Amino acid sequence: MTDKTLISYDPATGEELWRGEHGDVDAAVSAARRAFPEWAARPLANRIEMVRRFANEVRAEADGIAELITRETGKPLWESRTEVDAVINKVDISVNAYAERTGKKKLDSAMNGTAALRHKPHGAMAVLGPYNFPAHLPNGHIIPALIAGNVVLFKPSEKSPAVGAALVECFRKAEFPEGVVQLVIGGPDEGKALVAHPGIDGVLFTGSANAGIAINRKLASNPGKIVALEMGGNNPIVVTNTPLLTDAAALIVQSAFTSAGQRCTAARRLVIVDSMYDALIKELVKLTKSLLVGDPLGDPQPFMGPVIDNETAELLGESFLALVTAGGKPITHLRRIYPDKPFLTPGIIDTTDIPERPDIELFGPILQVIRVPDLDAAIAEANNTRFGLSASLIGGSPEDYARFWANVRAGIINWNRPTNGASSSAPFGGIGLSGNHRPAAFYAADYCAYPVASNEMEQPRANIGVGLKS
Ligand code: NAD
Repeated sequence: MTDKTLISYDPATGEELWRGEHGDVDAAVSAARRAFPEWAARPLANRIEMVRRFANEVRAEADGIAELITRETGKPLWESRTEVDAVINKVDISVNAYAERTGKKKLDSAMNGTAALRHKPHGAMAVLGPYNFPAHLPNGHIIPALIAGNVVLFKPSEKSPAVGAALVECFRKAEFPEGVVQLVIGGPDEGKALVAHPGIDGVLFTGSANAGIAINRKLASNPGKIVALEMGGNNPIVVTNTPLLTDAAALIVQSAFTSAGQRCTAARRLVIVDSMYDALIKELVKLTKSLLVGDPLGDPQPFMGPVIDNETAELLGESFLALVTAGGKPITHLRRIYPDKPFLTPGIIDTTDIPERPDIELFGPILQVIRVPDLDAAIAEANNTRFGLSASLIGGSPEDYARFWANVRAGIINWNRPTNGASSSAPFGGIGLSGNHRPAAFYAADYCAYPVASNEMEQPRANIGVGLKS
């Protein structure tokens, strides 16, 4: 083993899962540049055919990839299966998105000429992935980028290299030409090297706001590179009047604790109008205490597996304690189930009385509860954040929802649905610290190609109509 060896561990068992050497960024970028012209020049139909072949390879390996996702991230197998489905479905969705968002158009003709709108690929795109959806989210950049004619350098998270390698193996089996999709193993250093490399034309990033801001800063003097930043959230779920307490509690639990709270769209703040507080908290505690936390490959399947590693579990424990110290009142405790493994019971804490609640993303199963007098105060509280990814309203009338929708600042606003579980057929992105106005999912097509406007005539025909010396 060298100091350039990256090892990933199974969070549920602590056992080594995978090891590999850090990638050579310069060599990978050179190979990408060599591959780009031929790939970009292929007919669109051929590139579509190639990504369909990739989907078939993923389909053939679906069970193995789902199990690998579970082993590397700790998310229960039922969730990993849905992630693999999303990887496969991304292909057809992206083909449609390319046609709808970035297709070709013939515009009005001027003097027998043609005005045309076509799109071109940027070139070599660095895709930097997070660990929580180690296949689906990078794939959500990779597939649209390839369809548009770009080549891709994919650096998976240092916490999920095995899944990254498995994904790139499917491209190899689908017989993608050399250099079109490359795996670059490594951590933030390799990420930074890719971002700064002059041979890279774009950075498609999914991860934390801190890393996204660092990337943005690095490229501030380089506006020529396209940068899509999909970042985190401090997402509110607001509950106003509803008699359906059991359903409301289920929506809150799904929003806050699916994937052990390791989703960018997870609800972090439950804002409850006063009249609902006591009855709703009772239901919520009952349901939360009945959630199974355990072996992500176990039978019966748990609701939650571990968080990604012991260090993360430790930091989440410290964050929960800091909220208690600042005046928060625990409702259910965030508890380590085993001292040496990162399994956590979901923590719910009332932070209404904390005067300055920290506006940070606590990426794990921690839900803060804030009590407010009415819906207007709830909307103000929902907006009390620099982030703006997702927000949900539970209960209320159509008029209440219209008010919520109009006044809440977020890229995803739902009614009587969880804050998470977004569809790939819609745009996916946030405002504020959650993104840079380049939403992914259906709109990923927009940042994978640039529009070129052309006026065209088959022969050069022109004359100067005015202003000539006689
Ligand atoms: P992270 O920011 O630590 O890392 C993401 C990727 O960026 C990794 O590949 C990492 O190696 C790389 N990286 C880190 N610092 C970098 C730098 N300075 N320059 C270049 N590359 C760098 O994120 P994570 O912990 O892996 O993932 C969890 C985070 O991702 C959460 O904040 C979550 O909300 C966010 N997320 C956002 C979305 C979305 O679509 N908006 C989806 C999933 C996760």
